Amino acid sequence: MKVAFIGLGDIGALMAVHLARPPFELTVWNRTTSKADEFAKANPARVASSPSDAVREAEVVVTCLPSSTEVEAVLHGENGMLGALRKNAVLIDCTSGDPPTSRSIAAELGGRGVEFIDAPVSGGTLAAKSATLTVMWGGETTVFDRVRPVIEAFGRKIVHAGPVGAGDALKAVNNALLAVHILSTAEGLAMLVKAGVDAGTALSVINASSGRSNSSENLIPQRVLTRAFPRTFRLALLEKDIGIASVMAEDLEVKTPIITLAAERFHEARKKLGDQADHVEAVKLIEDENGIEIR
Ligand code: NDP
Repeated sequence: MKVAFIGLGDIGALMAVHLARPPFELTVWNRTTSKADEFAKANPARVASSPSDAVREAEVVVTCLPSSTEVEAVLHGENGMLGALRKNAVLIDCTSGDPPTSRSIAAELGGRGVEFIDAPVSGGTLAAKSATLTVMWGGETTVFDRVRPVIEAFGRKIVHAGPVGAGDALKAVNNALLAVHILSTAEGLAMLVKAGVDAGTALSVINASSGRSNSSENLIPQRVLTRAFPRTFRLALLEKDIGIASVMAEDLEVKTPIITLAAERFHEARKKLGDQADHVEAVKLIEDENGIEIR
């Protein structure tokens, strides 16, 4: 099966590795060519010179870009995919995108005989490495069935969320919860540190109790207490996801004051910490405001 993979970023490159082996024949394209060259040195893959060159022969195209804006750009930009996609090809968009743009891309491609499913992933870079990502997809089952082997190559829990855009919607809400958990756990720990309670001791109790979350169980112990703050998922991308959730809430007229506030806080954090910071570094905003460190 001829597959093209567009976007070898922090998670995309790790997903593409699983497609660089039979029964797949992989072509990759990345905006920064050196990353594609590096990928092809380590894995059997052809490096394409442009998005259109990448997809010309492909039966399945996977995109994994920061947001739907960049997916539009590689479709419509110079040497974009649009004119080169084969009839009956399927575009699987693993970007955590936004539902209205995914629906409009699906409609545009549909008019050219190309199928589309949105298939954002969760589980982070560790799950991408071990091919155990959770994949939430939106679209037609008949389309999914044609590309199932590609998705199964990097996914373990694979869930049909609904029509095109439903995967994006579910991903945005999941990540809004992640943002809320990071901030609320850091606020709670800031209080406890100021009250003289050791942060590790506090987490050992919270993690045996009802206040626990992935943030308290994994992210904060492994990345904040250790002060390691590795970059696996950029804060700017989480800001984007919670922004998608906020727009969804407005469109659907659902009141979400907590998610709205978390979106504002992530916006502040990104302005302060920059585009390359990791998402967990948002706790530094709370630490700085309160003159403490959670360690
Ligand atoms: P990165 O920021 O690490 O990589 C982004 C990729 O998109 C790079 O290949 C980059 O190319 C490319 N790109 C950026 N702008 C453009 C553009 N204008 N035109 C063409 N290519 C462009 O992102 P991730 O790999 O971390 O994330 C990708 C998607 O997956 C995002 O939607 C993210 O929200 C989602 N995701 C990420 C997770 C993670 O743990 N990292 C977990 C779950 C979902 P270049 O190399 O040239 O910069």
